[in-house]
Amino acid sequence: MLRNCGRKLLLSLVGATLTCLLVLMVDQQTKQLVELPAEAEDSQRQLQAEPSPVKAVQDASVKGAQTFSAYINKLTRVRRDVEQVGTPSLEGSKPPVEDIAADDVFIAVKTTKKFHRSRMDLLMDTWISRNKEQTYIFTDGEDEELQQKTENVISTNCSAAHSRQALSCKMAVEYDKFIESNKKWFCHVDDDNYVNVKTLIKLLSRYSHTNDIYIGKPSLDRPIQATERISESKMRPVNFWFATGGAGFCISRGLALKMSPWASGGHFMNTAEKIRLPDDCTIGYIIESVLGVKLIRNNLFHSHLENLHQVPQSEIHNQVTLSYGMFENKRNAILMKGAFSVEEDPSRFRSIPRPKFPRYPKGYVGPVRVTLDVNVADF
Ligand code: UDP
Ligand code: MN
Repeated sequence: MLRNCGRKLLLSLVGATLTCLLVLMVDQQTKQLVELPAEAEDSQRQLQAEPSPVKAVQDASVKGAQTFSAYINKLTRVRRDVEQVGTPSLEGSKPPVEDIAADDVFIAVKTTKKFHRSRMDLLMDTWISRNKEQTYIFTDGEDEELQQKTENVISTNCSAAHSRQALSCKMAVEYDKFIESNKKWFCHVDDDNYVNVKTLIKLLSRYSHTNDIYIGKPSLDRPIQATERISESKMRPVNFWFATGGAGFCISRGLALKMSPWASGGHFMNTAEKIRLPDDCTIGYIIESVLGVKLIRNNLFHSHLENLHQVPQSEIHNQVTLSYGMFENKRNAILMKGAFSVEEDPSRFRSIPRPKFPRYPKGYVGPVRVTLDVNVADF
């Protein structure tokens, strides 16, 4: 009897030890798979590329001991993709709180001279041509052809390099021009983004521009870990969420004004230097870490860092931004049947039907306010 009890006890102890060992191994492995470098020197897209969870899963799957954690990680990844690229966000039930028009929004498009033909012409032929008054193009080189298409081309004097400093320089000018404009909302997009301005207005009308609003979509699945320089010799770790510039984001005027000591004039560049991260991360740092305002995540913003095939064709107009480009070494664009073939229109932006314009009574003259016919339930 006693010997039986002793054996059971021994077996239980061995079992418990093995379980502990297994849990420790899995925990360690999961950490290794998703850990980001504490400090990243270059672009946020590189930050994304380095610890790709998918790549990590592939690497892990060949090693026997890592299979279990890889499996768990894969499940998390799949769920995240569904959440991110899925259609309507939960914003839905929120009623409009402010009646805003297209000219209350300042849309800043960041570009560089080498992309004027290959990227800007496409945007000028599609969504910008319908929203010229509220769209401002921030670039780094003179271009008659672009200037003939719109008056709102801003030459930033920033370098044309794809360096952290050059990108922050452009963001600094975008911020200052927005403040000067007196508009209610600042929205930033890249030159590979499509903006559904009607849907954007509908979304922003759900918030008050005098409140602290920062809205967009993160490209990372956890807050970025950075170090902030607080003096010549002192650094301290900071963690914060940021909305990726490649999906576009918006900031209310109320919040933008509070950002001024860290963002206006030359301050933005200094702030970016303090954390040594790119422009969109610096925006997140000022808002979340310095001002303590939380990013509002919204699934209607899309960058090419997510699988754009997952946006249903019937929901295209209900998305705020779209994109095209590369994702995991493959061409990435929305699926959209239309008048143009994929060869003629690889981004699919030319194939998106023009949004319906509101009908006014005959003889109506007056400010054109955009009436929204997007289904409220779709947000
Ligand atoms: N860009 C820039 N200067 C450069 C290269 C890129 O201002 O030298 C801008 C580009 O016009 C775009 C954004 O930075 O608006 C992101 O560039 P891209 O889409 O080429 O790179 P991604 O980071 O999305 O891979
Ligand atoms: Mn891009």
